[in-house]
Amino acid sequence: MNFSSPLGVYVHIPYCRSICGYCDFVHDPCSGCIPHEFVDSLIHEIRITARGGQADTLFFGGGTPSLLSERDLHFILNALHDKYSFTDLEFTLEANPDDVTAEKIRIWKSCGVNRISLGVQSFSDRTLRYLGRRHDADSARKALGLVSDNFENWNLDLIYGAPRLCDWKDTLFRALSFKPPHIAAYALGLVAGTPLGDGDEKRYEDLTILRLYRRCEDVLRAYDHYEISNFAKAGKQSRHNLKYWRNEEHDAFGPGAYALREGSRLQNTPFTDSYIADPLHKMETQKLSVLQLKLETLIQHMRLREGISEAYFFQRFQEDISVLFGKVLQKLVEDRFIRYNDGVYYPTRKGFYLNDSLALALVLAIQNN
Ligand code: SF4
Repeated sequence: MNFSSPLGVYVHIPYCRSICGYCDFVHDPCSGCIPHEFVDSLIHEIRITARGGQADTLFFGGGTPSLLSERDLHFILNALHDKYSFTDLEFTLEANPDDVTAEKIRIWKSCGVNRISLGVQSFSDRTLRYLGRRHDADSARKALGLVSDNFENWNLDLIYGAPRLCDWKDTLFRALSFKPPHIAAYALGLVAGTPLGDGDEKRYEDLTILRLYRRCEDVLRAYDHYEISNFAKAGKQSRHNLKYWRNEEHDAFGPGAYALREGSRLQNTPFTDSYIADPLHKMETQKLSVLQLKLETLIQHMRLREGISEAYFFQRFQEDISVLFGKVLQKLVEDRFIRYNDGVYYPTRKGFYLNDSLALALVLAIQNN
């Protein structure tokens, strides 16, 4: 374990050609071309604020980074390469199936992209229409064919919990037929402020959603279920996202992006117009206390099958985990949210299913201490 390990770098491209009904990410509509003034501001932010140094993961997320032109991609990457020394790089780019063409794949590969995350969500046209996705199942299949022929490492995003529920099993099996190295499966959230969240949509009971989740676990049993919502073949876990789940330091650029830097959480404004006007303005800079950092690190690790070891915690914080968290960890073991074995605390299946309750118990225990 080395806590001065290389950084992860995130770049947020907020533009989308159409807006999905469930989306609560930072996004802005565009005709298909990313505005130059946005790219200029992004490059300015990178040039002025990047801390630089060694980095080993780069993630272009969105929004829809697959809308970036070759020219803009090169401009942004040049700015990043001027600041960071990338070694053994995992470079992920999120793509909408509609944008995947042989030409785009050539461009991405020539830029060093070596992992594609494809927002498929479903193989049911009815579900895709319900979600407001701009692609259909056929374009998802074509994109998957191109991606799987050209990349050894890629992810497929899926969503469950949309009507009709019976489409979920079919979607899972169709996804499996492409032999994806990595699958991320998330429950549909009906979030206030989104078209579906504000509409008159049917909300399924927790038990129904749990049944869909368990179906996913069952169908994907050949995968390493390494994080609550993420499944990977051996060696294909998302190295970038693992940095978040281990609460490790990372830089982040673009509207709404969060960085964790020297124990401070920095957040950019989520409003793209404000970001373009002043890309250096931080909406929030929060210095985390050492206690917050320890608590967040513990909570985040409880999303991971690997759990957290006493040795890891001690090496990172020079403190025995039991000094601060011993009582609450013991209680969580008794309540079967976690188990303890050979110096490691692991979330149980119950701990995965009821992860919010597990996290809340940890927060409350510290507040009442
Ligand atoms: S493509 Fe992604 S970011 Fe864009 S609107 Fe849809 S869910 Fe949101």
